Amino acid sequence: MSVEDVVKCSFCSKNKQDTNVLIAGNFAHICDLCIEQAYEIVQKDIISKESVKNDFKIFKPKEIKKHLDEFVIGQEEAKKIISVAVFNHYKRISLYDSVKNNDVEIEKSNVILVGPTGTGKTLIAKSVAKLLDVPFCIADATVLTEAGYVGEDVESILTRLLQSADYNVEKASRGIVFIDEIDKVARKSDNPSITRDVSGEGVQQSMLKLLEGTIVNVPPQGGRKHPDQKMISLDTKNILFISGGAFDGIEKYISRRLNTRSIGFKSEDDLSIDSNNILQYVSARDLKSFGLIPELIGRMPVVTHVKHLDKIALRKILTEPKNALIKQYKKLFEMDGINLTFTRNSLDLIVEKSIELQLGARGLRSVCEAIMMDAMYEYPSEILKQKKDVKISTDYVESKLKKLSLKKLQAA
Ligand code: ADP
Repeated sequence: MSVEDVVKCSFCSKNKQDTNVLIAGNFAHICDLCIEQAYEIVQKDIISKESVKNDFKIFKPKEIKKHLDEFVIGQEEAKKIISVAVFNHYKRISLYDSVKNNDVEIEKSNVILVGPTGTGKTLIAKSVAKLLDVPFCIADATVLTEAGYVGEDVESILTRLLQSADYNVEKASRGIVFIDEIDKVARKSDNPSITRDVSGEGVQQSMLKLLEGTIVNVPPQGGRKHPDQKMISLDTKNILFISGGAFDGIEKYISRRLNTRSIGFKSEDDLSIDSNNILQYVSARDLKSFGLIPELIGRMPVVTHVKHLDKIALRKILTEPKNALIKQYKKLFEMDGINLTFTRNSLDLIVEKSIELQLGARGLRSVCEAIMMDAMYEYPSEILKQKKDVKISTDYVESKLKKLSLKKLQAA
């Protein structure tokens, strides 16, 4: 027997003559069958590692908008622009995951949403996160301060995101952060040389790196950083930041800009300016005039607006979204065997009362809670033999609201 005959595959021990090919290495041999099996194992491993990275589905802009339509009434432009921004953002992430060396660098599409309170800014951001199934948190810009001052450090924003991701760093690093009241950190003067406004400009400065993408050491339990605390490193490169603010008074900057332009260029465009909704023309320049620093605006390149909600929109908000308030009350009562209905006029009255509160759609909840409180307190204790019908009429709404002052409802 020659030496060649006893050469075996080091993995399955098959003799050379029983294989198609046997590749010889310095210390071991491998047959064609074992190569195939090893290749399959390697492929499976690569795919499972990739799926941890790409555990989010990329939705097309139209799909995102369709989902938003189920929850957010009106705000068509904002929904469309956000849908595109979100699509591009997650496309950008998948591009970096799949190809390491990219010649074209796609920039982040962080968003600024300008518009009155209670009109759906937070709701839009929250609804997008829900569709994508990514961690989401809301941070209030008014409590942020520069490191070293009393208040929360900018990093604390990420503590909340980590918590919402159950401390899964990989997941958190693809989450969405909504920064509320970004307008409140505007510097008071457009001219930085006059005075340095520490609370505003300093906070804006400290947000720059976070928005752009950096590795941040996050205190897992929040609070201020101290030397003994164990930190979690989180890369913000793939976190999408959506900020919102009322930007009270920004209309005057927008009008001024539009008017100045129309002196020089009297184009047809300028003639068709809709003065009832000046906010729709908001641009990065107006945000700068308002007091956001150019560097911050540059890191949130997508600027859009939400509109004031009129009577028709509020009426729809009451009944149409998937989780509309009236649907929620009906469900709660149904669980106690009660068939709750509202007359059309009672719904109109709720809308009218909410408009007086000037809290946008948020007012609807305050008014509804005030109306429904007694019923929610009393009916569950009643022992029902058969399904009971409860109808909310205008008289009922009026009788419940008579007792409450506007101020109290606004504070609710
Ligand atoms: P803000 O613009 O101040 O961020 P929110 O998005 O927090 O306002 O709105 C507060 C609540 O009002 C929401 O949770 C939602 O119930 C309701 N709401 C506001 N705007 C809309 C809208 N356009 N469509 C449906 N519900 C809305």
